[in-house]
Amino acid sequence: MPVKPPPRRRSAPRPAPAHRAAAPKGPPYIVRPDTAVLTRGFDPRLSVGSARPAVFRSSTYVFRSPESAERAFSVALGRAVPEPGEEVDLIYSRLSHPNAEILEDQLVPLEPGCRAAAVFNAGLAAIGTMFLTLLRPGDSLVHTEPLYGGTHHLVHELLVPLGIHPVAVPAGDGTALAAAVAAAPGVKLVLVETPANPTLVMTDIAAAVAAARARREPPLVAVDNTFMGPAFQHPLALGADLSVYSATKYLAGHSDMLGGVILGGDPEVIRHLRGTRAMLGTILQPDECWLLDGRIATVSQRMHRQSKNAERIVEGLRGHPRIARFHYPTLFEDREQRRIYRAQCAFPGALFSLELAGGKRAAFDFIRHLEIVRNAVSLGSIESLCCHPASTTHSEMGPPDLARAGIDDSLVRISVGLEDWRDVLADVKRALDAV
Ligand SMILES: *Cc1c(COP(=O)(O)O)cnc(C)c1O
Repeated sequence: MPVKPPPRRRSAPRPAPAHRAAAPKGPPYIVRPDTAVLTRGFDPRLSVGSARPAVFRSSTYVFRSPESAERAFSVALGRAVPEPGEEVDLIYSRLSHPNAEILEDQLVPLEPGCRAAAVFNAGLAAIGTMFLTLLRPGDSLVHTEPLYGGTHHLVHELLVPLGIHPVAVPAGDGTALAAAVAAAPGVKLVLVETPANPTLVMTDIAAAVAAARARREPPLVAVDNTFMGPAFQHPLALGADLSVYSATKYLAGHSDMLGGVILGGDPEVIRHLRGTRAMLGTILQPDECWLLDGRIATVSQRMHRQSKNAERIVEGLRGHPRIARFHYPTLFEDREQRRIYRAQCAFPGALFSLELAGGKRAAFDFIRHLEIVRNAVSLGSIESLCCHPASTTHSEMGPPDLARAGIDDSLVRISVGLEDWRDVLADVKRALDAV
């Protein structure tokens, strides 16, 4: 995979977190990402020696003096930049709190090219905060289609009434994307969701970045990296400005919390996002930060195992007479799709969709007969889940839009978990046979 450094933009040094300004940030030499997520950002001495971070649930922080309170507000409001090593008091946890700062430091090594991270209380809170930071009335947002249902809703119910113009281009169509980015007036943001949900159609991130840079005032490029990141796809290394996650999915991985993460190559952009986050109150709460902090150390291992499981299950299902069509990267037939997959993903991932012979009735029957794979929305967790997008997550799209996006009535999406793949394969086969 080509790895080039992210573009350098104007950037200010990030304030040293007050509660651990003098603390070491991990080993003094460069370590690999799996080591860095376990060693940086946290000094046990500041949590009475606790090997894992304590949870700081306070809503407000006691100032050392009126002068340090004044200084903390000057820094928070951007009127002053802290000196290197300066301890700036924390203020109030809607702005920031120790668990968010620890987590944000630990997220940085997850993607090459990342220099700063911000955490939010849901994936949609991250995306909404990003929109409200980067877009103004009259601006255009170019985005791939289909988008995650909640993002689609946010664009049409919130951005459009505010006078922001969405320009949708079909996932995978690099030519249409480049044309839209070149032609739309006042493009300030390009949002690429790849692979698309639930068809897994891939969009070329590097090509989207090239299209953005070709404009005189290049818009920022954000990639919703929820499906393949952080293990298998690295948008920042491909030149994207922001890599956005619903941390609810693979990052947290246990269907027990909501969260959102934005990784960026330019700390200044992340600082702006944090500013909007402080106004909206979309920061991730201390308990959830603590939970996510423990989960990111295993995300790479979980994703690798889940992807391997999915590959084996898909292989075991190939040629089954009840399956009319598969959507999975190793089975892409389109040459351009195969090229994009090879260029930007390390592994095929743990999501696949299948279309059943027999339409919607067959799809519902299939879901009814599954015993191990449970019928629920969401994905990326350690347990296998399935859903019928056309009647649930994508039901807001009308039949013409569904058809254009390739979301058939017979399509069932499966997110493969950490069960023994042979049991999941047997479960899927049994349910198919029972249709
Ligand atoms: C789930 C999801 C979101 C929204 O995240 P929440 O944590 O549910 O708010 C956004 N994008 C994609 C691709 C998702 O799968």
